[in-house]
Amino acid sequence: TMADSKALLVLENFIAGKFVPCSSYVDSYNPSTGDVYCRVPDSGKEEVEAAVKAAKAAFPIWSSKSPLERSQILNKLADLIECDLEAFAQAESKDQGKTITFARTVDIPRAAYNFRFFASSILHHKTECTEMAILGCVHYTSRAPVGVAGLIVPWNLPLYLLTWKIAPAIACGNTVVAKPSEMTSVTAWMMCKLLEKAGVPPGVVNVVFGTGTKAGEALVCHPDVPLISFTGSTLTAQRIMEKSAPYCKRLSLELGGKNPAIIFDDADLNQCIPTTLRSSFANQGEICLCTSRIFVQRGIYSEFLKRFVAEAKKWKVGNPSDSAVDVGALISKEHLEKVRSYVKKAQAEGARVLCGEGVDSLALPVGNQKGYFMLPTVIAEVKDESCCMQEEIFGPVTCVVVFDTEEEVIKRANGVKYGLAATVWSSNVGRVHRVAQRLQSGLVWTNCWLVRDLNLPFGGMKASGLGREGGKDSYEFFTEVKTITIKH
Ligand code: NAD
Repeated sequence: TMADSKALLVLENFIAGKFVPCSSYVDSYNPSTGDVYCRVPDSGKEEVEAAVKAAKAAFPIWSSKSPLERSQILNKLADLIECDLEAFAQAESKDQGKTITFARTVDIPRAAYNFRFFASSILHHKTECTEMAILGCVHYTSRAPVGVAGLIVPWNLPLYLLTWKIAPAIACGNTVVAKPSEMTSVTAWMMCKLLEKAGVPPGVVNVVFGTGTKAGEALVCHPDVPLISFTGSTLTAQRIMEKSAPYCKRLSLELGGKNPAIIFDDADLNQCIPTTLRSSFANQGEICLCTSRIFVQRGIYSEFLKRFVAEAKKWKVGNPSDSAVDVGALISKEHLEKVRSYVKKAQAEGARVLCGEGVDSLALPVGNQKGYFMLPTVIAEVKDESCCMQEEIFGPVTCVVVFDTEEEVIKRANGVKYGLAATVWSSNVGRVHRVAQRLQSGLVWTNCWLVRDLNLPFGGMKASGLGREGGKDSYEFFTEVKTITIKH
């Protein structure tokens, strides 16, 4: 109705420093109520063309600024996001379904920190120089920004992942065209409102909203966008590789995971259990780094299971804006159905669902009855070949299985197509090193989870990705290196 549509939030693309309306829109839902509350531009070739044109026009001036000038602007942007932290957190929670607590303590602080981190790190890179005295030559490397970077991000950590790409791209002197997920576009649009005040010149950061198949592919196929940094699913990455192949684009791909936690019988369960609950269920299990296969050594298997399930049952599911709630809503109705279907498949295969979906009842507040909620779910006795142990579920579902030996568990942990993040729990330092070395995983956390030093490489092996992101890695991705030889 008219009255309803008037109340909707309507986003606009941000091109060449200006907000521009689009001729068509897609609906965006509030996952905790099931209501359409926002309209997102359904951009296509035309909008992407305008954004790339603006980014190209801004490149000569932006790329010729000194790193220090760019650094000051990035810091200013970080300050402005921090000033509006609460508004950003509220918006992220409403748009994505995540709890307000998670948005306040993880998403938005990290978004601001991404700008601050690259504002600092860009000042400290060194290029290489070697000498060939006998030939009278010195060689040195020089790095320059590449041009217009295309940035495509998913819905699970919207502003966090978007800024993790925008910050290094523009710190290095590139200009960007970014496309957030059509399901979570609000905080990117809010950030655009701060760019001018921070001193980001028009055209340096352009944001085109819309779907992957329309706006995303137009960006991937644009001949004037030589690099694409993508975070999302492995399936979409394959499509992006295919579509960008004729242009030989530089790609950075951060993809899915099927992350194991390996818990040896000498693990400190008082630390391991709360951390493994978080690694399984934080952000509704919608983090690429979330644990979804828990291997527990036989000696502590039954104790672990008993305590883990008892604690999982304490996680409160409900209205994400209630600060006492631990689990918010999943991103969409379709995604909720997909996650639930995995639990059903596991049951059909003879696995035991110990708590959550189909076992416990979920009581929701009146206003949230139509939201996309699900209880944290623990499944035991799942076969390694089961789709629940092989495919990324990306929801609050985790499988617990038993193992006997180190050799055996390494093989089983590596027995999936993914290789993003693994967790190892043991108080035997030798074993921790041994196992960490042999796991096929871009990240291995031992006796902890999600502790990150942004200087160091982040990314996956096998189907979990191509390339790495981080202080040095992002700098290398977003610059073109040249080797120059001088003979005297
Ligand atoms: P997705 O691949 O469906 O979408 C990601 C982005 O790509 C969205 O903006 C989407 O609109 C766009 N897109 C879709 N099809 C496209 C196409 N053909 N061409 C260009 N762009 C296209 O992923 P999602 O469902 O939004 O996110 C969840 C996935 O992201 C999970 O697999 C998760 O593991 C992964 N993820 C990985 C990391 C990491 O750092 N490795 C971090 C977060 C999420």
